[in-house]
Amino acid sequence: MQTLPKEYNFGEIERKWQRKWEEMGIYRFDWNDKARPTFSIDTPPPYPSGEFHMGNVLNWTYFDMVARYKRMRGYNVLFPQGWDCHGLSIEVQVEKEHNIRKREAPPDQFRKWCTQLVEKYIALMKEGVVRLGCSVDWTTEYRTMDPDYWRRTQLSFILLHKKGFMYQGTHPVNWCPRCETAIADAEVDYEKREGALHYIRFRLENSREYLLIATTRPEFIPACVAVAINPADTRFNRYIDKRIVVPTVNRPVKIIPDEGVDPSFGTGVVMICTYGDKEDVKTVIKHKLPVIMLLTENGRINENGGKYAGLTITEARKAIVQDLATAGLLEKTERLTQEVGVCDRCKAHVEILERKQWFMKTRILTDSVEKAANEVVWYPDYMKTRLIDWVRSLDWDWVISRQRVFATPIPVWYCKNCGEVIIAKEEWVPIDPKLEDPRMNQCPNCGSREFIAERDVFDTWMDSSITCAVHAGWPDRPDWRRLFPADVHPSGVDIIRTWAYYLMVRHLALFDEKPYKSCLINGMVLGSDGRKMSKSLKNYVAAPEVLNKYGSDAARQWAAGGGATGSDIPFRWPDVEYGRRFLVKLWNVSSFASKLLKDYTPDKKAEGALQPLDKWILSKAARLTKTVTEAMEKCQFNIAVEEIRNFTWHTFCDCYVEAVKDRLYRPEMHSEAKKAAAQHALYEVLYRILQLLAPVTPHLTEEIYQTMYAEHKGCRSLQLSSWPKFEQALADEQAEKRGDLIMALITEIRREKAEKRMPLNSQVKKLTVYAGDRETAEIITEGGEDITGTCKVVRLEVLAEKGIGREIAQFANVRFVTEY
Ligand SMILES: [Zn+2]
Ligand SMILES: [Zn+2]
Repeated sequence: MQTLPKEYNFGEIERKWQRKWEEMGIYRFDWNDKARPTFSIDTPPPYPSGEFHMGNVLNWTYFDMVARYKRMRGYNVLFPQGWDCHGLSIEVQVEKEHNIRKREAPPDQFRKWCTQLVEKYIALMKEGVVRLGCSVDWTTEYRTMDPDYWRRTQLSFILLHKKGFMYQGTHPVNWCPRCETAIADAEVDYEKREGALHYIRFRLENSREYLLIATTRPEFIPACVAVAINPADTRFNRYIDKRIVVPTVNRPVKIIPDEGVDPSFGTGVVMICTYGDKEDVKTVIKHKLPVIMLLTENGRINENGGKYAGLTITEARKAIVQDLATAGLLEKTERLTQEVGVCDRCKAHVEILERKQWFMKTRILTDSVEKAANEVVWYPDYMKTRLIDWVRSLDWDWVISRQRVFATPIPVWYCKNCGEVIIAKEEWVPIDPKLEDPRMNQCPNCGSREFIAERDVFDTWMDSSITCAVHAGWPDRPDWRRLFPADVHPSGVDIIRTWAYYLMVRHLALFDEKPYKSCLINGMVLGSDGRKMSKSLKNYVAAPEVLNKYGSDAARQWAAGGGATGSDIPFRWPDVEYGRRFLVKLWNVSSFASKLLKDYTPDKKAEGALQPLDKWILSKAARLTKTVTEAMEKCQFNIAVEEIRNFTWHTFCDCYVEAVKDRLYRPEMHSEAKKAAAQHALYEVLYRILQLLAPVTPHLTEEIYQTMYAEHKGCRSLQLSSWPKFEQALADEQAEKRGDLIMALITEIRREKAEKRMPLNSQVKKLTVYAGDRETAEIITEGGEDITGTCKVVRLEVLAEKGIGREIAQFANVRFVTEY
């Protein structure tokens, strides 16, 4: 057997194996293999943000541990990697970088800038994924901005249109006036902002009486279409059905009864505007009220605002409040903090606009989503309710069109003459309707030959919510159903409402089948101060800094061991340092073992001479295998990694190796057979540790494996070895109890030497053990060789009687006396 050098350079070893694994091609999914069971991971393609942060380290470590574990369990594992390129985030950055708005550059130029930025970002993120040592099958790499991926997104739209899930309609939608596009509920964040509550007098028609209305959005007064009062509110219900005059525009509107008005909120009298918020939308639909659209797409007041037309929302608010005050209609103004909906990309206040948009019918799928969510296995289980609560909270269909540039085009045209909607045929895609006419001679409805292209594009989630099918090979591989549904969809706790949800509705609608069998949730990374890690909070740590300083195997231990799956995980440097120290310990014990095993040839015969401590460690290793396997099956990575580290560091290194050194160094004092027994246990238990650790710390374990084990064990890589089985025959409770006692006695003698400030190898002339009973005495006698060898005892006397002397921790009946 080859020996390991004393010291190791983790950076060099990690890069070497990352390169070699790729050369060996061992992480590729074997599409031709029909024998092994498959396991597919629905790797969520990330938005390339240009940086690989600790949140990414956490996610990818989870994905990768699952992939490596399942590979060792004998599965043909599909671990794909794509990049979700489109979206507002990139456009907003390009706008900032070039100091323009999307309309101010030719679309081609704008797209080109976006593509360049995305390519740069992908390169940086990919480097992070590689450096973390992820066992991705890079032959699967894809970009959603490539026409080949457009093809899939567009095809899914065409199929869903055929199935009746897609429709065009004029409905209120969330609108970002800065990005100038419709956005979905899932893209609206909520933030607390300072605002003002204005109390405004609305005069009753033909009367001097007025009602007081409190509003945070006085700029919407010109779009007021009704005033609502709870019919049970005796203060005001006599006014119902009367008319009231909207100030500033002097237009009378009806006072309507609505049970939804909370009499205790504000003044109990509410103005209904189109649209101040989502409640207004409900009230307008319920009472069939007229709609006065007040805003332009870039957030200014339109002609319906009369004298305020052309002002921005903020300017209009100031001007209206000023005018109301001048007219004596502003009774008072109070400061308040309110929760407002903001665009999740640019943080602008989200408005509600009515525009013709494309929608997917998602509300009709609510029950199916809930049913599917209940069938999916969630890690951890309680995350299931997040999806169910979200789907139950939705009251609008999904708006899938966006008024942006950098996205997949909607493959639709309109007849210039009759307005007929022409959807691309399945075989036309990928296609950009802005560059190409429909491949038909004339409008099927009126015969006209002129068409207008759809200028809107798809929401980015339209690209990324079909990955379960795409990864499986849809629509090109005839046998794609073999890998569908995906075995696991890993997701962050913050994107259950988007990723897990959109995957569900798209696949349920397209294929009448849930997209994934299980869902693995990771929490957020917190800073060392316990708050969410963020640059603005100054608790941010960049992943490359961590990887440079301690290497990937140490960082991965932090990710695996930092907390329970699904919970938020704080980043603490000491955790990574501990990971690093553990690796050094493992390297040192392996280096030491490789020297003591130089003359060892794996041989089953050694099993006949196993000593109590050999049986003890083999039994503990067997039980560790069981515990770790169970934890990995349940994605309880923190339990797995803690169990392995404790066993390795304390049971194996501190106890077992110390206790058998004498047998290994001085076989002449024992026997060659007993030396071989210790070698056998050392060899097998260390191998077991390497295997159990292989999914967590793949680099170092591979390096040790290749040097010490590859020749005998025969696998090209530790990653290709079979996950160890729990050996019932080796797990021996009695053997463990005996070994525990022997180990406890050795430890106590060593502790006594330490207290007396004597070197550990100082001789004990005589050791007298009072075992307390016959059975205990027999056990100690049986382990006598390792006790005397390790503690340098010249004469050992074991007595069955109770006696005096030093007590042994946890074995109060056993005492001993030493003579130095
Ligand atoms: Zn925005
Ligand atoms: Zn036509």
